[in-house]
Amino acid sequence: MRNYGLTAVADFLGDRMVYRNLDAADARLPRLAELRAAVGLADNAIPRKSAPEYARVVVRLLRLARALDAPGTPLTRLVFIGDTRLNDGAAFANLCRVGDWPGVAFIGAEQPASAQAEVVAPDGYPLYLANRWTLLADFDAFCRQQGVPVDEHTAVILDLDKTTLGARGRNDHVIDAARVAAVRRTVGELLGAAFDPDRFEAAYAQLNQPEFHPFTADNQDYLAYICLIVSSGLWARETLVADVRAGRMTAFAQFLAAVHARAAALPADLRALHTDIHARVQAGDPTPFKAFRYTEYRETVARMGALPATAAPEDLLAREICLTHEVREQAMAWRDRGALLFGLSDKPDEASIPSDALRAAGYKPIHQTPTHAVGA
Ligand SMILES: [Mg+2]
Repeated sequence: MRNYGLTAVADFLGDRMVYRNLDAADARLPRLAELRAAVGLADNAIPRKSAPEYARVVVRLLRLARALDAPGTPLTRLVFIGDTRLNDGAAFANLCRVGDWPGVAFIGAEQPASAQAEVVAPDGYPLYLANRWTLLADFDAFCRQQGVPVDEHTAVILDLDKTTLGARGRNDHVIDAARVAAVRRTVGELLGAAFDPDRFEAAYAQLNQPEFHPFTADNQDYLAYICLIVSSGLWARETLVADVRAGRMTAFAQFLAAVHARAAALPADLRALHTDIHARVQAGDPTPFKAFRYTEYRETVARMGALPATAAPEDLLAREICLTHEVREQAMAWRDRGALLFGLSDKPDEASIPSDALRAAGYKPIHQTPTHAVGA
């Protein structure tokens, strides 16, 4: 591994990307609100990455972006770089289907076994499953063999989270560490002197387990809120765990309603926060715990480009969210061949883009924040 120095995703991607709200960072591209009618999307709904509606929005943005850069050059194929077989694989197949494009996807996750790639095609579109990020160098030839050469007719999608930044199996634990630190800090600041770190840690560690995903919907905002309520003492962890296991508490909405019924017992500031989150959930906001997500932004950028330029690659991978050198290098080679690069991040916008006050203090969106590029 080598440290390739400080650089930002935007240095090669520009602002050609969307975070979870699907509002393109590039001001020349339309906002999601302007695209709703054209792609048949209901008011307020923000489709998730694996949904067909998500692909309809992104394909539209890809074509508009290509028309800005290279008028009269149609996109005729797609290459996708990601890290999750199910979620990225579904998003990739949907993009190919909606665009009516042939495509190939690279799904990377570093593993200790010897380097190997396996090709599967669950939806009829090939997924190149690689256990080394360095296999991206071979992937280019694979695309050509599959009839998907990368040139000015090709859209190249780069997944951001745990692919372009914080490569899965190599550096992704730092992204998770930032999120957990954000939950802890948010709950700690809200509870002040009443914060009991042990009670919080026990709740987070247990309720974050897959066993509780049906209850938490594997939604980190919901989990943070549940940990806050348990840490506040309003609800004992043991009681909650027993109720979930016995099937008496089956969904987050049920818990939220139960807290609502007891909210009078909460201190005034927690009651106000509960009321806000309750209203946002009723309105269909999937990221209702705004304070947590703003803190997650701070904890994330605090882990980017923070170590000295001379830091060893192992230290950078242990403590920073690094740019994946192999992804960056391959993306730049494809860009030089005329391909359209476009980034997708599933991170909520509140956790990715600074507030106006932070922006004035020099903070930037995650894709514009410099960090060390590390790779083989
Ligand atoms: Mg990802």
